[in-house]
Amino acid sequence: MTRCIFHIDLDAFFVSVEQALVPELLSKPVIVGGRPDRRGVVASASYEARAFGVRAGMPLAKAYRLCPRAIFLQGSFPRYRNASARFMRILADFSPCLEPMGLDEAYLDVTGCELYGSARQLALNIKERVKRELNLVVSVGIAGCKVVAKIASDSGKPGGLVEVAPGQEKGFLAPLPVARLPGVGRKTEQALRVMGITGIGQLAALPPGLVKSRFGAAGMMIHHYANGVDNRRVEPPGEAKSISRETTFAQDTLDRRLLQATLRYLCERVGAELRQHSKQARSITLKLRYADFETITRRLSSKEATNADEVIFAIVARLLDQALARKQKLVRLLGVEALNLVGDGKQLYLLDSMSQRMEHLDKAVDRIRKKYGFTSIQTGRTLALKDIFASDKGDYMLETPSLSR
Ligand SMILES: [Mg+2]
Repeated sequence: MTRCIFHIDLDAFFVSVEQALVPELLSKPVIVGGRPDRRGVVASASYEARAFGVRAGMPLAKAYRLCPRAIFLQGSFPRYRNASARFMRILADFSPCLEPMGLDEAYLDVTGCELYGSARQLALNIKERVKRELNLVVSVGIAGCKVVAKIASDSGKPGGLVEVAPGQEKGFLAPLPVARLPGVGRKTEQALRVMGITGIGQLAALPPGLVKSRFGAAGMMIHHYANGVDNRRVEPPGEAKSISRETTFAQDTLDRRLLQATLRYLCERVGAELRQHSKQARSITLKLRYADFETITRRLSSKEATNADEVIFAIVARLLDQALARKQKLVRLLGVEALNLVGDGKQLYLLDSMSQRMEHLDKAVDRIRKKYGFTSIQTGRTLALKDIFASDKGDYMLETPSLSR
């Protein structure tokens, strides 16, 4: 069955919430992020401010130089969180298959929701309800897969409704610049430009073998996207039975430092996702594939659940030591899986002060990473990765695309 996926994105979210509250701010250049004489960056800018070149993530001082008559607001995170929750509740009325992406975007799989008429009519109904109940404007992209739906909603901003019919995906993407594809950061864009590739259509036409040899598995993912192919499902949060990350080394290795650092990185990715979903794991699995493709898994289960990076790492590091003590073979792949998940409010034991400190530390790290990218802050144990892997858009580009999420 052809899927029908919506990408729904609130326009200039923070600013629009402020404008909905104070109508005098409408149609004016408004910037949420703080006072322009303070350090800090633009969190959100109205389209009137964007016309002056102001962009999210830009230092406030620069935004002030570009648009001195803009109205600068401190903003209120609780207000945005509240608006976001109401937004998501509206979307959930249209389909249970809802995957929120941060506060102001979501994917909605409406395959088979003919009850509401055409996909287009359904999208109009969503726009109308969000406008009526929240006084906010959304852009909607409609397509058969996530990546095209996302780019479609971007193309229609602000206030857009862009539908890409089945079979039209490649033609829709072709004229757009490669940077519009998720996963194409500045480095990849630059590398493609050197090859004479600037448009998605050009990228799509490259032989897959060339893309793979030049950009690895992450490049293959981008190549699929460029061709309008994306099999990722819309996954409602909490549906996950387990959370895992794994990576294949560029070269088979027995280098302890590299193995440990990679393992630590995988643990941090798994831990971050557990905490993001407010989950803890009762079982942790180490997956190890040797150069000859023999694959082993080692699991440790406990009645005490955890989502602390340090604890997860301590478990898999020990399992790795045990496995390597038994067999001295080159390692091809390492993976970490957290399973037997429980909600993190339901702990059966009292946190001692040590694990409480670790929890605070992990949460602080999560906040920094959310703001500045995953590699903006690193523990000593992953620093070894810096020399080995290139970083793009704030994440390491490892061989497995799932790692770059
Ligand atoms: Mg948005």
